[in-house]
Amino acid sequence: MQHITIDPRKVQPPTRDGGLNDLPEHLPTPKATNTHPVKPGGENASIYFVGTATTIIEWQGVRIMTDPNFLHAGDHVHLGPGVSSQRKTNPAVDLHELPRIDLVLLSHYHGDHFDQHVEASLRRNLPIVTTSHAKKILTSKGPDSFTAIYDLEPFQQMMINIESDPGNDASPSLRVTGMPGKHVPVVKPIEKLNEFVGAIPPTNGWMLELGHGKDASSFKPGYRIYISGDTLMVDDLKEIPKRYGEHNIDLMLIHLGGTTVPSPSLSPFTLMVTMDAKQGVELMRLVKPDVTIPVHYDDYDVFASPLGDFKEIVEREGLGGVVYLDRGEEYRFAVRQ
Ligand SMILES: [Zn+2]
Repeated sequence: MQHITIDPRKVQPPTRDGGLNDLPEHLPTPKATNTHPVKPGGENASIYFVGTATTIIEWQGVRIMTDPNFLHAGDHVHLGPGVSSQRKTNPAVDLHELPRIDLVLLSHYHGDHFDQHVEASLRRNLPIVTTSHAKKILTSKGPDSFTAIYDLEPFQQMMINIESDPGNDASPSLRVTGMPGKHVPVVKPIEKLNEFVGAIPPTNGWMLELGHGKDASSFKPGYRIYISGDTLMVDDLKEIPKRYGEHNIDLMLIHLGGTTVPSPSLSPFTLMVTMDAKQGVELMRLVKPDVTIPVHYDDYDVFASPLGDFKEIVEREGLGGVVYLDRGEEYRFAVRQ
């Protein structure tokens, strides 16, 4: 098992051109703070929603950033041969206004999850956990390569120990496990889309466990976050509740949007490559997380399934535990000792 240590006391700017003098100490003050819908209390960690699938999770002085995407409304991303998409929203914070970041979880190498400016700007030694496909690209840039990239296959794990002040807390650690994901439907693709489908990168989900204990044998999870990644609702995901049991996932960050490529307005031949509202509810029913927070739902013009559709099904079916975050809002939660 891969094993690394991060030390939030060693302050480095998130971008390579950033200086320490003007480095903000904190994220911007959240526009609103949300807590557990029925059992609030004991909050000692938070998730700040930046936009698209970009979130920043803070616990024990460590900041973990997911799928960094800091483009602005009007900017374009390249998603594959002949397919680009325009961003419709702004991130809640700019890349160059970020405070210290200690770790990145990158579900896959796609422009709406790791955009061109992020790729050019992030400091090269920032630890990034991702797919083997993304690792190959990010470490093959010659002198411009990233130097701390770790890849995980589905159900492969790594331990990340957090250095903290002695006497503070007994060995806070993170355990990251790759989760299965399929960005492309398992059907024979329409001929015209073959080239595009071949270019869609493989994607992971993640199980991010915040807990205590230095190694795999002593690690005790205190909060479990399942991040779906850009997957469709596929059979591979059925393995997740088998491994973790029912009701043992505290939070699910679910990538919705029903991403449809090329944009339905451009071509009669379209494919849906992320979950829409209906599939999202199916995944909730499968994984049964305590709380669900939708992300990746309205930031690009290829996102064809609005959040309102998901809300409507959730309400109609009487499903509880969904927290809706707008960009710039946070969710605070309690990691058990
Ligand atoms: Zn995406």
